[in-house]
Amino acid sequence: MMKFSIVTFGCQINEYESDKFRETLINLGFEEVNDLKESDFVLFNSCSVREKSEAKLLSGVGFVRSLYEKYSHPRSIVTGCVATTEEKKIKKVGKDSVIAILKGNESLDERRKKIFDTLNSMSTQTLIPRGVKSKAFEFVPVIFGCNSFCTYCIVPITKGREKSRPLDEIIGEVETLVRSGTKEIVLLGQNINHYGIDIGNEKGFIELLENVDRIEGIKRLRFLTSYPADFDIEILKRMRELKHLCPHFHLPVQSGSNRILGLMKRGYTREYYISLVGKISELFGKASITTDIIVGFPGETDEDFLETKNLIEKIKFDKSFIVAYSKRPYTLAAKMEGQVDDTLKRQRLNELLKIQNEISLEKNHAYIGKTVEILVEGFGNDLTFGRITQDKLVIVEGKAGNLGDLVNVEITDADFIHLRGSKL
Ligand code: SAM
Ligand code: SF4
Repeated sequence: MMKFSIVTFGCQINEYESDKFRETLINLGFEEVNDLKESDFVLFNSCSVREKSEAKLLSGVGFVRSLYEKYSHPRSIVTGCVATTEEKKIKKVGKDSVIAILKGNESLDERRKKIFDTLNSMSTQTLIPRGVKSKAFEFVPVIFGCNSFCTYCIVPITKGREKSRPLDEIIGEVETLVRSGTKEIVLLGQNINHYGIDIGNEKGFIELLENVDRIEGIKRLRFLTSYPADFDIEILKRMRELKHLCPHFHLPVQSGSNRILGLMKRGYTREYYISLVGKISELFGKASITTDIIVGFPGETDEDFLETKNLIEKIKFDKSFIVAYSKRPYTLAAKMEGQVDDTLKRQRLNELLKIQNEISLEKNHAYIGKTVEILVEGFGNDLTFGRITQDKLVIVEGKAGNLGDLVNVEITDADFIHLRGSKL
């Protein structure tokens, strides 16, 4: 039986796609293994948002080539963002070990078919379809690509323009997932607030949420990632009426300085962002707010950095994904003056991480003594893992339930990443 491994870099859309590739391969009778050395082929799903993730892909492809030259296996199939723009580099690093490069802006179905064709030409076995097991939660992409062109970001180049999936196709997919036991659905898009606009429905996003929320059997509904500039009070009010929407908003702010937000072309100001978070807190009292922040954007001065620091302290995000700016090819910011020195970027990054960790700890400590409901999503060494609706991971001693169960837990302790609790 042919064996494969999948290596995924980057965002939840890539995770979703990798799951679909996995499903296709398992259905075809291939066996997934963790050890690259044991595999006949490795499918890399790549990310180019930061230079580091691109470098990791190339080193992975290089490693596979070294194995291939020694043992005549495995070989590589590369897809995702790096495959869109860096075909030559991948071929140079991987040489003959690379059997296919599938551009990330091609549709998932096209890429699945190409993988099938590539493997079919290599395989001598009969392909036998099998069942697929259900999970507690599943990602469902609803819009691909991005039209926003933030000046630092390579995504609009690697993934192309916005393309919404038809509503009935999404509803069909969610219904199938829910019928097979999935409890939580996470709708995905780079700018999910734009869902429907390219297919002629300005109110597409909220209508999509309303339609998914009504599906019988769904227990929790989430979405990622929303674009702060595209929220309005009407959307928030309609969201509040949804029965299954989780009170968690991931709202990437990127910077607390209006000057830097302008240079990034984010389309909102610090004041607008603060007032949006205020409205969310008013309407969804218990909501958690998380964000993405970039430090060391070209031209970021000490004052700009201070503004970002102040914003973190003012809003008190539950969690922030803070990263150092990484120069990406084909982006406007790569050509801007005032590129910030790496050492200074690292200093700023560490300073913000320290502040955010303290805030996260304080926020998580506030849950101690409370009873929360977790959706069981995994198990460790005599431990159960589950998430509360605010998207915090809870670790429970022992077996607190089965995969996909909703279980009440009392929170007994917390660190800056997790909550800990015991089953009631
Ligand atoms: N579409 C979402 C938004 O508007 O924020 C996020 C998608 S982006 C692929 C995920 C995160 O990667 C961004 O929020 C940003 O913080 C980070 N990112 C994107 N380009 C980057 C770059 N050149 N350097 C560092 N971080 C970057
Ligand atoms: Fe990148 Fe901006 Fe599009 Fe997000 S909205 S994917 S940060 S260009």
